[in-house]
Amino acid sequence: MMDKALEVLERRLSRQLAASLETCVRCGICADSCHYYLADPRPEHVPAYRAELLRRIYRRHHDPVGRLFPGLVRARELDDELAEELIKSAYGTCTMCRRCVLNCPMGVDNGLIVRTARGMLAALGRVPKGLQDTVDVHLESGNNMAVSEEDFVETLEWLEEQLQDEVDDPEARIPVNQAGARVLYTLNPREAKYYPLTILAAAKVFYAAGESWTLSTRAWDVTNYALFNGDDEAAREIAGWLAQEAAELGVEEVVMAECGHGFRAFRWEGENWLGRSYAAPVRGFVELVAEYIRTGRIKLDPAQNPEPVTYHDPCNQARNGGILEEPRYILKHAVADFREMHPHGRENFCCGGGGGMMAMGEFAEGRLAAGRVKAEQIRATGAKVVATSCHNCLDQITELSKHYDLGIKVLNLCEVVAEAIILPGDRQ
Ligand code: SF4
Ligand code: SF4
Repeated sequence: MMDKALEVLERRLSRQLAASLETCVRCGICADSCHYYLADPRPEHVPAYRAELLRRIYRRHHDPVGRLFPGLVRARELDDELAEELIKSAYGTCTMCRRCVLNCPMGVDNGLIVRTARGMLAALGRVPKGLQDTVDVHLESGNNMAVSEEDFVETLEWLEEQLQDEVDDPEARIPVNQAGARVLYTLNPREAKYYPLTILAAAKVFYAAGESWTLSTRAWDVTNYALFNGDDEAAREIAGWLAQEAAELGVEEVVMAECGHGFRAFRWEGENWLGRSYAAPVRGFVELVAEYIRTGRIKLDPAQNPEPVTYHDPCNQARNGGILEEPRYILKHAVADFREMHPHGRENFCCGGGGGMMAMGEFAEGRLAAGRVKAEQIRATGAKVVATSCHNCLDQITELSKHYDLGIKVLNLCEVVAEAIILPGDRQ
């Protein structure tokens, strides 16, 4: 039974993973990088401790001493008890934010180790149910909330009417399945189901920029929770749909809606999972909006957002995705009073909602406890609005605001930008 998990370990044993499993010197420097450890400094919250669980299995099979005398090097066979420990550790107390990676002097990639452990548990069918359901629903229905095509189209038609009212132009469109459009835009199902106004905000930005864009009714979900459950087969299938749709529509680029892990999964991991290059390049919405501002395609009035605003960097878009300057560039043009958190950018702390944590109710208490680090960062800025660029971050920070009484509003960047937009007809 455990063989399937060990096969995953063997298959994924790249040079990078082997180096990470071999080179930890147990200095403990990574401890202070991790929001779990800072919020609750227990040994099991030290990143190196989490990695040690997989390292023991690795030593049992790859260390000559570990094979013969496991006790001498603390090697251990994967059994039921260790699998249970791994579930709590890899799914329950790590958001795969990779802040610890940045701060390890040996370059140990604990995020990679944790994802490998998750992949092994996925092969055993032991992914926490909420997270596995999200992946299964995506595979079965084409999006992770099972939004039917009929409901999706109806929502877009209603939003198109809203857009026409908002920009006072009966010709304003939310285009669907338009072959030859320049941009294929994606959405988070959460937007279609619960927060359609973020779709309206993005549509308003595209309208103001005069963009040639389209949505697809066939492949539109920006998310890929298989990044988090660790199942590469599922991740490949999900990434493949969007890649294929972009090729069939013949777009010039795919623009990922504001979704941290979705951006990382498709922009940085997808081509590896698929083993081929995409037909069209991939950018985040934030990168495109920064370009619109820089090239004068949209104009913003910061006075429309007078309250103090801070920005939370989604780990998978910033540290793990490379989008660092663009959100700041946008906010400096879109709001009157922008305040940085400390630390921010590449060194930003995870909000606690990453790694699929929002889908695993059994770990909610620890998630909110670990979010204390982010709550304190936000409070110290004195901001009344937290802008971010990820729906998981948005949900987690909204919960943190209630839990820690922060009294803030949380918005995605597209909403902040849409509020400040000067429509083409109103430009002087
Ligand atoms: S900082 Fe790196 S080398 Fe030091 S204990 Fe952590 S993972 Fe190991
Ligand atoms: S990846 Fe993030 S949550 Fe996981 S051990 Fe490292 S710092 Fe902690």
